[in-house]
Amino acid sequence: MTADTFLISGGRILSMDPEIGELDGDVLVENGAITAVGHDLHAPGVRVVDAGSSWVLPGFVDTHRHCWQGAVRFSGVGWDVAAYMERVHGRVAPAISPQEAYLGDKLSAFACLNAGITTVCDESHVQHSPTHTEALIRALTESGIRARFGFGWSAGSTNMLGSTDPHPAHLSEVRTRLLHDDSALVSMYAMLRGPVLSSLDTCVADIARARALGLRMSFHVGHPNPVGRSEISLLHDAGVLGPDMHFIHGGECPDEELAMMADAGVGLSVSATVESWMPGIGIPATARAVRAGVAVSFSADTELAAGGDMFTVMRSAFTADQLRRIADPDYRDRHAQLTSAQLLEFATIGGADVCGIADRVGSLTPGKRADIILIDRTAPNLASFADDATAIVTAAHAGNVQTVFVDGVERKTAGVLTDAAELARLQPGLREAAERLRGLL
Ligand SMILES: [Zn+2]
Repeated sequence: MTADTFLISGGRILSMDPEIGELDGDVLVENGAITAVGHDLHAPGVRVVDAGSSWVLPGFVDTHRHCWQGAVRFSGVGWDVAAYMERVHGRVAPAISPQEAYLGDKLSAFACLNAGITTVCDESHVQHSPTHTEALIRALTESGIRARFGFGWSAGSTNMLGSTDPHPAHLSEVRTRLLHDDSALVSMYAMLRGPVLSSLDTCVADIARARALGLRMSFHVGHPNPVGRSEISLLHDAGVLGPDMHFIHGGECPDEELAMMADAGVGLSVSATVESWMPGIGIPATARAVRAGVAVSFSADTELAAGGDMFTVMRSAFTADQLRRIADPDYRDRHAQLTSAQLLEFATIGGADVCGIADRVGSLTPGKRADIILIDRTAPNLASFADDATAIVTAAHAGNVQTVFVDGVERKTAGVLTDAAELARLQPGLREAAERLRGLL
């Protein structure tokens, strides 16, 4: 499919661009780029997409999802993080085949598109071989989603806790041969282990290697470790923090470490649902990060443990924060209550900002690529005269997402994925993969 030219007409536009704001109007897309947002736009001869009963907003940006775990989706709901690490990292990850990884990634990508997530950062720590890597990239490419491919390590090998093994050797080749274009629909960054899963010296060397290749980096932070300090302090003291990084979780990290992130321009990915459902990761740090001045984004993390749509993540962040406010008056006094406008911002432009692509997506701004979703505002669960963002954050679900464009290409139409037949074709393989992999858990 090629990028299209069309006019989205008569919608309630939530642009997420502070200069454009919210308006009843039109969005003109030409060759996959947004070229105008305003009232009564005219574009003779182009296809018109009627948005009269819709909210029109930028697609959601998920800054952290282990897409390969789509193959074992919902197998570990309610587990604590120790069980997850032992069973998933220790047993399933090392055994996954390239084809199983391909199937999991593709299913996750389709689930994202169905729920209006137009960009996903695929935190992919099953880089066991170049064949695995190519299968994972192929799945993302075929799905049509905008993907940031986080080239991670080879989970389950000896590189756990203090490892001195360097990041997998084919990182450089993948960068130079497959994913050298940072503006491509599938682009690349390095998902690094950080100075707990690997030794500090190894981590610093991995960071230097990623930077030499022009790669941004992500790190999971807050792993329990013998020195009792998190990855953030260790990286800060090593002098390597920078705005080309984003951190994931951080719920157990003290405010001083959040301040280190803010000072260095490091954004945060809060996986509010999985953090709430999987004991041991830490309590969602959304409001604490806001207070510290850290750029916040949202992520689904793993569909092994929870559903993966952004509506659920936004509501989980609000629920977790409200519970904390109820339980702790000091916390309530020190942190402003999260608003629907903020939650929607973290799920869209916040995500684009944190993963370094806000120049291309995250808001309906002329010049950006046309990653746009239409949500049915007349649906029984949504029709209201309340604030738009509040209605969406409070009650919308994936089934309300009627239309999805990625890079100007329609990926969901009238509530159905355009690749629904391909998804059906994958089912027998997915069933086989799930049965084999679940047997290892
Ligand atoms: Zn994760």
